[in-house]
Amino acid sequence: MAQTHILGYPRIGAQRELKRAQEAYWKGEIDQQALLAAGSQVRSKNWQAQQAAGLALTTVGDFAWYDQVLNHSLMFGVVPQRFATGAADNKLDQYFRLARGRAPSGAPVAASAMTKWFDTNYHYLVPEFTADQAFSLDVEWLLAEVREAQNLGHNVKPVVIGPLTYLWLGRGVDNALDLLPQLLPCYIELLQKLASAAAQWVQIDEPILGLDLPIEWRRAFAPTCEALANASGSKLLLASYFSQLQENLELVFDLPVDGVHIDAVRAPEELQSAVAALRGDQVLSVGVVNGRNVWRTDLARWQRELQPLSEQLGERLWLSASCSLLHTPVDLDTETTLAESDRQKLAYSRQKLDELNTLQQALKPGAAALPVTEKTVSRSEADVRAELDNTWRTQKYPERAEVQRKRWQLPLLPTTTIGSFPQTDVLRQVRKQFRNQEITPQDYHEHLRAEIAEAIRRQEILGLDVLVHGEAERNDMVEYFGEQLAGFIHTGNGWVQSYGSRCVKPPIIAGDISRRNPMTVQWSEYAQSLSKKPVKGMLTGPVTILNWSFPREDIPRAVSCLQIAKALRQEVLDLEAAGIGIIQIDEPALREGVPLRVSGHNDYFAWAVGCFRYTCSEVNAETQIHTHMCYSNFNSIMDAIVALDADVITIESARSDLRLLQAFSEGERAGEEGGYPNEIGPGIYDIHSPNVPERAELVERTRELLKVIPKEKLWINPDCGLKTRGWAEVGAALLNMVEAARTVRAEV
Ligand code: GLN
Ligand code: ZN
Repeated sequence: MAQTHILGYPRIGAQRELKRAQEAYWKGEIDQQALLAAGSQVRSKNWQAQQAAGLALTTVGDFAWYDQVLNHSLMFGVVPQRFATGAADNKLDQYFRLARGRAPSGAPVAASAMTKWFDTNYHYLVPEFTADQAFSLDVEWLLAEVREAQNLGHNVKPVVIGPLTYLWLGRGVDNALDLLPQLLPCYIELLQKLASAAAQWVQIDEPILGLDLPIEWRRAFAPTCEALANASGSKLLLASYFSQLQENLELVFDLPVDGVHIDAVRAPEELQSAVAALRGDQVLSVGVVNGRNVWRTDLARWQRELQPLSEQLGERLWLSASCSLLHTPVDLDTETTLAESDRQKLAYSRQKLDELNTLQQALKPGAAALPVTEKTVSRSEADVRAELDNTWRTQKYPERAEVQRKRWQLPLLPTTTIGSFPQTDVLRQVRKQFRNQEITPQDYHEHLRAEIAEAIRRQEILGLDVLVHGEAERNDMVEYFGEQLAGFIHTGNGWVQSYGSRCVKPPIIAGDISRRNPMTVQWSEYAQSLSKKPVKGMLTGPVTILNWSFPREDIPRAVSCLQIAKALRQEVLDLEAAGIGIIQIDEPALREGVPLRVSGHNDYFAWAVGCFRYTCSEVNAETQIHTHMCYSNFNSIMDAIVALDADVITIESARSDLRLLQAFSEGERAGEEGGYPNEIGPGIYDIHSPNVPERAELVERTRELLKVIPKEKLWINPDCGLKTRGWAEVGAALLNMVEAARTVRAEV
C-alpha cells in the first residue's frame, strides 16, 4: 500500500497563536517560558494532525521561531560578527536579533537581509557568508524537537534544507560553492546525530534542483549526496519542488539516496520519466496535493493516474503534497463566514492531510472509484495573446513627456511619495468598528475623508510636488481591490506566513473577474478637490493582484490577469475622466510570478507586461502613468520593466546602494542612450527603518543619483509606501527630502 507523508506544515497555528505569542514576547508582555510553551503547543497540534490523518511519518524540523533558513544558519554557526554577543545568555534572543535586529535582551543591531523563497511570497533570512566562513554544528534545538515528537508517540521524519540549497541561498561570497568542503562535515555530523536519535528517514530539501543551475553546482550533487549517504544511518529522501527537474531528472535518480520527492503539481509531465528513472531500491514520493493553493485536489484523477503505479511500486510509492504546506492556510474548519458552496471547493493544510488519506485508501486494490469533480471549461491562453497584441498608447514616451511637461509644469527633481501614509491606531480602530458594524458606513466614510484631508494638508505644508491621497481606505493593497471586484472569495482566516510573525490573507480567484463599480475614484476625486497640485490616482496592477491571490487551477493565469487588467482599465479611464491626470499602477509582485526556469520567462513576460500595458493603453498622452516596484534585484527583469513603458517608475533602491541603479543606468537600451529610457524615482531613503534620514545625507544621495540619471528624468521619493510608519517620522523625513531636493535643484 502507498504511504503518506508531507514535506512540512504551517507553523503559525490555526488561530495564529504563534504570531500572537511572538509579538507579545517581543513587546515584553509574556516571558520566554510562555513563548516556548506556545511553540510547543503548535508543534504538538501539527504532529497530532498528521497522525490523525493516518500519515505514516510525522515531519519534524519544519517549525521555526521566525524562519527555517535562519534555523539552519544558527545550526551551522553562520552568525555574522555583529550578532555574536549575548548568545550564551539567551540563544533565542540572539536568534531574534538576527531575524529582526531587536530582541527583549541585547543591543539593537542591523537585521539580516530578507528575500523571497523561490517564487513564493514567503521571505527567508539570507545567510551572510564571509570568505573565511567557518561552520560549527549546534543541533540541540532540532534534536529536542525530535525527542519531543517521539515522546508523543510519533514516527518522526526530520527535515533539513540540503547543503547545496543552503549555500545557494546565501550571500557575501563570490561563489558559495567554495564553502561546501567546510560545511559538509557539519551535515555529516548532523545526519549521524539524527540517526542516533532513531530517525529512520531524513528528508533533505534541495529545491534548487528545479532551477537552471550552473554546471559546477549540478556536478556537486553526486559527491555531496554520496558523502551524506555514507555517513547517514537513516534513509535519505531527497525532495525537490516548485519547478521541473528537466536536465536534473536523471541526475537526481542516480544519486545514492533512498527516495526522491517530485512536485507533480508543477511538473505533472515528469511523472512518467521519474518512474522510468526510479531505481528498484528507491521510494518515489509524488506531490499530488497542491501545497501552493487552496482548492480541493482532483483525487479521482490521481486515483486513475496512480493506480498502475501503486500496483507496481506498492510501499515504495509515497503520496504527498507538492511542497511544504507552509504556503497554504491552516484549517478550513476555522472559517466561519464562507458560503457553503465555496467551502466545499476548498482544502487548507489540515484538509490536505485528509486528502492524502482518501487517496491512499482509494489506491488500495478493489477500492471504489472516487467521485469525479466538476470541471470548468478551461479558457485558452491564445485568446489572451490575441487580445493583448497591439494595445498600447499611440504616442511614444518622448512625445508623451513633452505634453506632460507642458501640462504639469513640475520643477526639476519633482518630489512625491509612493502612495500610503501612516495607518494610525485610530484608523485601524475605526476600520475594525466598521467591519464589526459598530459604526455606520457614513461614519466610516466621513472618517476616511478626514484622513485624506489631513494627508493633503500635511503634504501641502511639506511642499511636495505630486501629492497622494494616502490610501486610508485600504487595509491591504490587494485585498482592497479583491473585495470590490467580482470573482473573488474572501476568507476570514485564510492566513499564510509571509515572514516572521507577519501573515497575509490572499484573496481567492474563484471565477471570472470583473469590476462592479468604480473602486477608488471617489477618494482620489475628493483628494484632488482639496489641492491645486496634482494628486496621483493609486491602483494595484493586474499582475500583482494575480500573484498575491490564490489563482484558479483550471483557468490559465494569463486569462485571469487579463480579466483583472480589463477591470483596472475601466478604473483608469474613470480616474482620468474625473480629472486625475497622474495615475500610479503598482506592480511590486511582477517579479514573483517569473517562472523559476528561464525557458518559461518569455511566455510569462509576454502576458504580464501585456496586461499592465492594457490597463493604461487608452489614456491620453498627457495623462502620466507611474508604476512602483520594490525589490532589490532588477537585473533579470530589466527588459520587462522597460517594456512596461510607464512614464515614471519609482523603485526601491535605498537599501541596495547604487548596485540596483546600475541596471537602470548602464548600457544602451532599445536604441535610447543612458539606460532606462523614461523617468525614474529611485527611493532615496529606506522607509523600513524608523530612522529619520538627515538632510545632508539626502542631498549627497541626490547628487550621487544625478551622476547616473539625467536631471530631466530624476524624481525624488522614498523607496516604498509609508503606511507602517508614524506621522512624526514621516513628517520629519519628508521635510528633509523636500529640502534636499530644493538644495540640489538650485545646483543643477
Ligand atoms: N502604493 C502602495 C503603498 O504605498 C505600494 C506598496 C508596495 O509597494 N508594496 O503602500
Ligand atoms: Zn513598495
